[in-house]
Amino acid sequence: MSACSNRQGRQHQGDGKPGITLTIEQAGHPCDSLPAAGAYYNAHNTNRLLGMTPSDHISNQDYHAWLEEQPPDPVEILSLGAGVQSSTLALMAARGDIKPPKAAIFADTGWEPAKVYDYLEWLEGQLPFPVYKVSRGNIRDQAKPGSPRFASLPFFMDGGGMARRQCTAEFKIDPVNRKIRELVGLKKGERAKRNRIYANVWIGITTDEAIRMKPSRLKWIENQWPLIDKRMSRNDCLQWFIKHGYRTPPKSACIGCPYHSNATWRELRDNSPEEWADAVAFDYEMRDGFRGMKGKNTLKSKLYLHSQRIPLDQVDLSTDLDRGQMSLFGNECEGMCGV
Ligand code: SF4
Repeated sequence: MSACSNRQGRQHQGDGKPGITLTIEQAGHPCDSLPAAGAYYNAHNTNRLLGMTPSDHISNQDYHAWLEEQPPDPVEILSLGAGVQSSTLALMAARGDIKPPKAAIFADTGWEPAKVYDYLEWLEGQLPFPVYKVSRGNIRDQAKPGSPRFASLPFFMDGGGMARRQCTAEFKIDPVNRKIRELVGLKKGERAKRNRIYANVWIGITTDEAIRMKPSRLKWIENQWPLIDKRMSRNDCLQWFIKHGYRTPPKSACIGCPYHSNATWRELRDNSPEEWADAVAFDYEMRDGFRGMKGKNTLKSKLYLHSQRIPLDQVDLSTDLDRGQMSLFGNECEGMCGV
């Protein structure tokens, strides 16, 4: 907190007894008690809010009455995807390198690779704060034709373009926000007060993916990006894991996410054959799409998981560069998937 110029030769009434005015040295400066009370205002703001001119004295009583009216500090929450970036933040907090959050929240789509769930279990054991798991159900089941709660993934459409992506909001952002409402004490149906930030949500985005930084859609939540503040890239995070001897996290994202790069598909095909087979089966299941999902030139579009718009098991996944399928998380996802 910056030094308050009221310290220079001003007097503050110190102990609330009428008629007694103490010097700053005798009474302690009101600014000194602010951090403990959790309010980040200095004495100038106090004067302004009490309608005083800077030369007025603030009585101890008025000061504490004002302090009691101040909203509590926002609750710090980590949005945990159990990928490289958010796991870096979680472990930094566990080590005391950064102030620990009140809690972490993991939004489970029910279709993450087994290694992500395995890593999450290990990670939870390292953390001194709780990890809440929230879910809107299994995204794979809900994406299938005929599902009563249709999950819209960003499929590639044969008529051109991509299907509208709603999965990040429905399976990640909304369940996390619901849990945050609960953690900050907002009851069902209760509206957040205007101009009050209830929660700071840390999102694990690194400098190489800064394009994914987006403000929260809710005015009472402030998104924060501590790894950007620390100027850390994804590679810096990986180096950080090695330096501190931690298990390196896998990439977190749904098994059949159309945003996968060729490298991620290759990794799935070569090292997780069952999950690869599941993604291939899903790709075939989704081919006929849904009524209303139209490509640019067709009444009803066929859907694909890969940008080449051919069955996943027929795609040449040799390299990203020669096949043009880079990860699409960078400029498409809202910062909640894949970190
Ligand atoms: S990882 Fe992909 S499929 Fe899963 S919620 Fe995010 S954008 Fe949707």
